[in-house]
Amino acid sequence: MGQSPDLAALVGEWLRGITRSGFVPGVRARARAALQELLEEIVAALRAEPFDPAAGRRIGAELVDLRMSSPPVIGMTVRLLAERLPSFVDGDPARVPALLETLVIGFVTAQRDAAVSAAEQMNRSEKIHWRRVQTDLQQRLQDALLHDPATGLPNEQHLRRHLATRTGRVGLCLLGIDRYAELADALGADNVTKLLTAVAHRLAGDHFLARVGGDQFALIADVTGADDMIKLADQCRRALQAPLPLDGHALRIDVTAGIVDARAVDDHWLRDARLALAWARHDRRDHAVFETGRADTDRRRHRLAADMPAALDAGEFLAYYQPLYRLTDRAIIGVEALARWQRPGDRPVLGPPDFITLAEHTGLIRPLGRFLLDQACRQGAQWRQAGHDLLISVNLSPLQLGEPTLAADVADILHRTGLPAGNLQLEITGSVALNGGNETLQKLTDLGVRLAVDDFGTGWSNLATLSRLPVATVKLAAEFIADAASTEVLRHTIGLCHALGVTVTGEGIETGDQERLLRALDCDHGQGFHFGRPASADVITERLRVDRDW
Ligand code: C2E
Ligand code: CA
Ligand code: CA
Repeated sequence: MGQSPDLAALVGEWLRGITRSGFVPGVRARARAALQELLEEIVAALRAEPFDPAAGRRIGAELVDLRMSSPPVIGMTVRLLAERLPSFVDGDPARVPALLETLVIGFVTAQRDAAVSAAEQMNRSEKIHWRRVQTDLQQRLQDALLHDPATGLPNEQHLRRHLATRTGRVGLCLLGIDRYAELADALGADNVTKLLTAVAHRLAGDHFLARVGGDQFALIADVTGADDMIKLADQCRRALQAPLPLDGHALRIDVTAGIVDARAVDDHWLRDARLALAWARHDRRDHAVFETGRADTDRRRHRLAADMPAALDAGEFLAYYQPLYRLTDRAIIGVEALARWQRPGDRPVLGPPDFITLAEHTGLIRPLGRFLLDQACRQGAQWRQAGHDLLISVNLSPLQLGEPTLAADVADILHRTGLPAGNLQLEITGSVALNGGNETLQKLTDLGVRLAVDDFGTGWSNLATLSRLPVATVKLAAEFIADAASTEVLRHTIGLCHALGVTVTGEGIETGDQERLLRALDCDHGQGFHFGRPASADVITERLRVDRDW
């Protein structure tokens, strides 16, 4: 089978380790080839479906055949493989220890069989010696399988076994070292080991402590509730706060905690603690407690994210349109295109909060954004042909704005759909406008496309920056409008925009009072449920027809 170069590197490492452990390879090249073959077998066994851990037995026996079977050699082999193999297999991390266990069994069995035939010629003291060697060997193997080589702490496998033996209410606190990758990079391998050992030392106490992956330590404790675990996490954080002397430097270590509290014994403790740790990091908190509800939401989001590319190909995404009204005469002057996901069957239509952020995370927002832009422009051209000269306003994600080809893509879409550039408005958020992207914005305005700053009045609302950007429209955020106390601020904002030659659209208008207020404040356009909800192109077409026939 075709193997990755990593495999060859691991073979080299294995051979060096074996040589250091006292094995004298007759012909190096032959020993290397033999190990390469074994490793390929091991990897294939790990990847096989269905997985059969017993495959390790044969490989263990082959090691005996190769005479790579002294206790130090086997100890070293198991440690090395336990550490490195997980990176060769995706999916179930428990496969590696399971396979290594059968490898050890195969190995010991083959040893014993060899010994039995040899034993016929052994004298009494040789037999005693052999038995001692074997006990020692088994002990080493057990240790290698259940401990982390760097810190000597129990490893993940050990933790799983330990959890299965615990009764009563226990909690698990998973600690992850913050910015570990950076640290490890700066420190170098030897110092990382020292650091991990020092951390292990600081965390050691009455609780079961294990190292369960690169930067992760797990503590198991009896608890009465999640609060106890939070306290324990705090204690750990404090224990690590005093600088760790390392190589003449004083390092400060911060940790984040993922906490799982009291549950039936199952296999998912660590997985759930890792999820909680990820939440804590995401929320920039020092800890998070696992909750089933949030995990379900996460899972649902993952499923959606996974479904999205195929859904885009299958044409399940579409634009809804919400009318933009001129406040002076209540004429529809345009529409805002809003993304929707219409899944097959009678499942509910999903709105942007369900998928836009996801699409931004996965990068799908680029093709999705382009698709929606294309659809909206096509629709705009159709309406125009039917005599409705509408402004088509389309939202741009910051990620799209970062694309160097954006302006060219837009030009291409306008060309293909036949919508005049002046009929297209692109909505960007203020933060984007601030973070560069100026060149792209300029290119877009050079095409004749209008730019609108969306959600003005929330977070970013810097009027000064507005004067530096080629912006045609400001869209006042719904929150801004709903807040009655801001009438004077609204009046000034609108006045200033007009002074800068910028048109103002009020968003989220839900009441006649809001409409009247904005009209009184000289706001140009309005959009909101009070005028009309976002609807499919067909519904809007009908609406335009009725409006005209009036
Ligand atoms: P937005 O750009 O501020 O769009 C206005 C949102 O407010 C829409 O929600 C609209 O349905 C809703 N809305 C309109 N009038 C009212 C009202 O009177 N009251 C209230 N409470 N809400 C009103 P929607 O469609 O769920 O879109 C949410 C956000 O998702 C949009 O906010 C926009 O930021 C983003 N989005 C929508 N479509 C796209 C897209 O194609 N691309 C990108 N990048 N983002 C999009
Ligand atoms: Ca918008
Ligand atoms: Ca908005």
